[in-house]
Amino acid sequence: MLKVITTVAAMKRFSENARQKGRTIGFVPTMGYLHKGHMALIEKAVRECDTVVVSIYVNPTQFGPKEDLKKYPRDFSRDKKMLARAGVGTIFYPSTRQMYPDGYATYINVEGLSDVLCGSSRPGHFKGVATIVAKLFNIVIPHRAYFGQKDYQQQLIIRKLVKDLDLGIKVITVPTIREKDGLAMSSRNSYLSPLERKNAAVIIRSMRFADQLVMSGVKSPHRIREAVIKMLRTVKELKIDYVAICDTNSLEQRKIIKGKTLIAVAVFIGNTRLIDNIIVR
Ligand code: AMP
Repeated sequence: MLKVITTVAAMKRFSENARQKGRTIGFVPTMGYLHKGHMALIEKAVRECDTVVVSIYVNPTQFGPKEDLKKYPRDFSRDKKMLARAGVGTIFYPSTRQMYPDGYATYINVEGLSDVLCGSSRPGHFKGVATIVAKLFNIVIPHRAYFGQKDYQQQLIIRKLVKDLDLGIKVITVPTIREKDGLAMSSRNSYLSPLERKNAAVIIRSMRFADQLVMSGVKSPHRIREAVIKMLRTVKELKIDYVAICDTNSLEQRKIIKGKTLIAVAVFIGNTRLIDNIIVR
């Protein structure tokens, strides 16, 4: 039976109890409005762990003042059905009062990694992410936690947080799940009009083209970046936030393509900000 827990105290009790019984706890933090991308993480957790906890919480501290916190899509009853079908045992579904009670004042900042790419276009975003994930880790006390490659920078930051604070949690990164035309699945895709949705496939097309260039021997990040930008610009209604070609661990800009390289893209299509990335070798 799927259990819904809404308070911090009850969630801690549940996890402490499961740990006492020697059960492995797998944890998947989400903001809900679940799709097949989330489900890939969840199904992997169900396969690998004795007890799976999925949190559903739209975390206000990771949204900027002009961002989409209020209109972020939510459908708890649909999410619950999907999680029951997947064999998840527990949903942690806290209120903001539970997570950030009056007078809340403590934040976690993973320096360096949080300041580039999405961090420079969304100041404070990763401070909010690191803070909520650290809190959730302390409440759910998982052995293993699952994150998507879709948010590549986020999983790197979480790995660093776990390492630096000696949290002893195994972080697992799951490949990006895509629509038929290659668009990375995202709760925010629901904001797109039919035309915007069609145009959004240019993101993955441009990155796959970059991959082909690398495979054909192009070693200049500048040339590859220009090629990606040129292809993205074929969609008039698209605004580029960044196109980055960088080291997969440090996220530093590459001077020459060598070994594993991350190609990461963020764009606005209309008012919707979409991100995606691939790793080229
Ligand atoms: P969110 O609800 O957007 O905060 O996402 C919750 C988790 O699901 C994060 O670890 C995301 O990286 C992951 N995720 C979101 N979309 C996808 C996708 N298309 N493929 C794989 N993982 C995803």
